[in-house]
Amino acid sequence: MAIIASNFKTNHTRKSTADFINNVNDFLNTNSISEDVYVFPTATSLDTFATVSNLTLGAQNAYATANGSFTGEIGTEQLDEFGIKTILIGHSERRHVLNESQEEIAKKFSFYSELGYKVIYCIGEPLEVKEQGLEQTLEYIYEQFVGIDTNYENLILAYEPVWAIGTGVTATNEDIKSVHSAIKARIAKPLLYGGSVKVANVREICSLDGVDGALIGTASWKVEDFKQIIENTK
Ligand code: PGA
Repeated sequence: MAIIASNFKTNHTRKSTADFINNVNDFLNTNSISEDVYVFPTATSLDTFATVSNLTLGAQNAYATANGSFTGEIGTEQLDEFGIKTILIGHSERRHVLNESQEEIAKKFSFYSELGYKVIYCIGEPLEVKEQGLEQTLEYIYEQFVGIDTNYENLILAYEPVWAIGTGVTATNEDIKSVHSAIKARIAKPLLYGGSVKVANVREICSLDGVDGALIGTASWKVEDFKQIIENTK
């Protein structure tokens, strides 16, 4: 079974989260769902999702702190309330939209890995780098490992080319295979692909050499699609 991680980003209210859960609960209870299905809801939906026992709940982001004066952020004291021990770090939108630096990302990684959190660590190149070729793409990606302990035991990697995220343009199987095999040769960790994964292509992508699962945004926000993705990758 593939690892499936669903990233809700800034979508779903508490009300629509409750509807989502109502619609998915029977499915989750009647299918054996492995602990390899992760959901990263918005922070305001964490309490609603915490009622679902057979999905692994994770934080899309949190600050490298237990508590303190970090306006707008949450820390482990808040995550503990929901039993969360999984976090997404280095997502493209945090790097490129919110301008989180590699230094900040590495600090977050150290903090959460020292606490034993499962970390899904995201890497990926923008279009202008991809257009320069594979060598430059890999060089760019390897820079995103600066300060990151790639031997950390609870580490899952996610290769998400920036140009494929939320664009509807999935990387080709050849692109995915060449980047995945190069990363895998350097870092022996589970490696997910993310970037416009859809119900229709998730099975094929997850069965490619070097792909251990998928990190999915848009295609996982509708409950029927979410169920179908899990169904297609069992
Ligand atoms: P997408 O997002 O599936 O909407 O492309 C993936 C992600 O950002 O993790």
